[in-house]
Amino acid sequence: MSTDFFNFIDGVHRPGSDGRTFENRTPLDGTLIGMVHEASAADVDAAVGAARAALAGPWAGLTTAERSDLLHAVADEIDRRSDEFLAAEIADTGKPVSIASHIDIPRGAANFRVFADVVKNVPGEFFPMPTPDGAGALNYGLRRPKGVIAVVCPWNLPLLLMTWKVGPALACGNAVVVKPSEETPATATLLGEVMNAVGVPAGVYNVVHGFGPGSAGEFLTTHPDVDGITFTGETRTGEAIMAAASKGVRSVSLEMGGKNPGIVFADADLSDAVAGTVRSAFANTGQVCLGTERVYVERPVFDEFVERLAAEATATTFGDPFDPLTQMGPLISNEHREKVLRYYRQAVDDGATVVTGGGVPDVGDRYAKGAWIEPTVWTGLADDSAVVTEEIFGPCCHVRPFDTEDEVVALANDTPYGLAATVWTTDVGRAHRVASRLEVGLCWVNSWFLRDLRTAFGGMKHSGIGREGGVHSLEFYTESTNVCVKI
Ligand code: NAD
Repeated sequence: MSTDFFNFIDGVHRPGSDGRTFENRTPLDGTLIGMVHEASAADVDAAVGAARAALAGPWAGLTTAERSDLLHAVADEIDRRSDEFLAAEIADTGKPVSIASHIDIPRGAANFRVFADVVKNVPGEFFPMPTPDGAGALNYGLRRPKGVIAVVCPWNLPLLLMTWKVGPALACGNAVVVKPSEETPATATLLGEVMNAVGVPAGVYNVVHGFGPGSAGEFLTTHPDVDGITFTGETRTGEAIMAAASKGVRSVSLEMGGKNPGIVFADADLSDAVAGTVRSAFANTGQVCLGTERVYVERPVFDEFVERLAAEATATTFGDPFDPLTQMGPLISNEHREKVLRYYRQAVDDGATVVTGGGVPDVGDRYAKGAWIEPTVWTGLADDSAVVTEEIFGPCCHVRPFDTEDEVVALANDTPYGLAATVWTTDVGRAHRVASRLEVGLCWVNSWFLRDLRTAFGGMKHSGIGREGGVHSLEFYTESTNVCVKI
């Protein structure tokens, strides 16, 4: 059975006004899931207009506590319909239920709950000050919603990353127009039903489908009535969006690519380090912005680490996404697989030792047309090989030995990116020292992907601008006014 994925504008699911559609196929086996209705420039204009109108409607009249209650109701409704969200996300991305049911869908609901609570607990800012007449003055800060927020999303964690933006945007009283990835239209569309069911006013949450340049992505990010653009995706797309935002001086929040280092010291608990690196390199088929693609291992434990990592990778199970024992799904598309396989070939051309993987697994006839790929571990590449310097976004990593702390810090920082790092050591002093020297927005010690949603999230250098999470999100999703009252 095929499904239509409609735009969601002013509380109504609608086809595009010029009748254009495109196919949505599952990467599991290439089967057609349904047709996606592409938004025209006029549809994007209608969505932005609906969002603008909502800001002047009943939405604006809600107290923070009432808005918070509504967002809790959104979260509860996602939980209640989690099987539908799960099925939609699995069809769109091919990811196994073992990941989607533990990470993607619950985090989709949690993103509303956390920000619904955060906005009720924002500390105020008060600065009394002296004045020459001795009476004094009092400064205090006011916050108001920024306005119409464009939310431009990638395909790797569709519901999770979209709600990571929509949750705080709505909690702060904004209205949003979401542009999901063209690869993963399903859960953003389904969320429209949830918004209507719990009574979020029409126009507060809108969805426009399509591509980037010459399509909904460009129409939305260049729309003059959008007040801010929050984007997750590739660095070069972020550059284009930042250029678009400069017209009209709109603010941007950019969460972009990474080439994240993992550092394993010889004093680490090696079992933990191997298990953590298996997750950080291969989870979600390596399609996680925070994933590790460069691993540096202190020489005394290098051989053992590589052997154990490769053994885990070789034992990976593929196949039926609804089998709880399936560990790895396909990549998002055959086109993306071709890109990743180009790096696999490049590694061989550059003289890598392919410790495991390097190709396409045999997943049987049922899934033969899917975008499956083997988890891959290399050693022996030069530090300037494109495989070691460029983001691949596949289930692969290069492992290289190091001898000193200074050397590994320099290697880890030798990248234009600055998103995340992992450090594995039992030396507490070293953990703090190294974490403070790494040029990244997020540093995990003896763990990976442990997230408290109140903490700052984002990258430095080419990995992003701005931080979101907890009260940090308020910097982007609100405007502030300082009021200075002479007493
Ligand atoms: P992408 O940049 O190709 O696309 C992201 C979104 O931007 C899509 O919705 C796309 O249609 C839209 N888009 C493309 N060109 C546009 C344009 N010119 N104007 C407006 N919109 C445009 O990214 P992707 O391939 O979907 O996702 C993978 C990338 O996302 C990786 O680089 C990954 O590292 C990054 N990512 C980063 C984070 C983070 O938090 N830092 C999280 C997840 C993914």
